[in-house]
Amino acid sequence: MSEVSVTKNAEGPAPAGDQLVVLDNVNKHFGALHVLQDIDLTIKRGEVVVVIGPSGSGKSTLCRTINRLETIDSGSITIDGKPLPQEGRELARLRADVGMVFQSFNLFAHKTVLENVMLGQTKVRKTDKAAAAKKARGLLDRVGVGTQADKYPAQLSGGQQQRVAIARALAMDPKVMLFDEPTSALDPEMINEVLDVMQQLAREGMTMVVVTHEMGFARSAANRVVFMADGRIIEEAEPNQFFNNPRSDRAKDFLSKIL
Ligand code: ADP
Ligand code: MG
Repeated sequence: MSEVSVTKNAEGPAPAGDQLVVLDNVNKHFGALHVLQDIDLTIKRGEVVVVIGPSGSGKSTLCRTINRLETIDSGSITIDGKPLPQEGRELARLRADVGMVFQSFNLFAHKTVLENVMLGQTKVRKTDKAAAAKKARGLLDRVGVGTQADKYPAQLSGGQQQRVAIARALAMDPKVMLFDEPTSALDPEMINEVLDVMQQLAREGMTMVVVTHEMGFARSAANRVVFMADGRIIEEAEPNQFFNNPRSDRAKDFLSKIL
């Protein structure tokens, strides 16, 4: 696990009212299953929020509602003061504003690495090809895979593919990045190369929501840990407080199993 010590937000917390993502009393069901229950969550600009909790607690569903891969039954979600759009061009723009990185890298297999990072720029942002390629190369360099630009995803290691997926999301200049267990499918030796890129992004002030079991990352990069169980947010705290002094029995039990 990466244990880089990071000074986040050296200038102090984001100014009050600068709320980038706001979930207000969000509820969602899958049939009889009440998968998200009365979720209130506010993410400020520049904040890094790590979401942890047992399998099946609703972490992925929470992420997926924020970029509207899932609809909600009640409550509201706003991003940068605007309610989530329902469809069409506005929805495509939202998806670009909310970058998402999944456990499975989800790159386009029949496009090169460079093309993967160019595609959203040319299709959604309407950037011209030359500018998109230039930006893509810059981002691939930044995540350490610049030399892989002309290869196909299958020719890359898992860690490299995941870094391409991060570059692809960054190419849209997202307002917030969602990471859903981005290192869970990786061989152990590749985990740190992905966490290091995320750590760097956090340091640069990117607003991030990260579902992860990497507690070293949570300790060093998170401003706040959100602990979920059974579709609810049970506890929210600053990482040191959460890890050293969890308040709820559910969190104590969870931590005793993973730490
Ligand atoms: P986590 O990411 O915390 O493991 P998920 O958000 O993936 O949890 O899932 C929460 C619960 O919702 C689980 O019980 C899961 O089986 C269920 N679930 C997730 N997606 C669907 C779906 N599309 N249809 C029905 N049930 C689902
Ligand atoms: Mg999940």
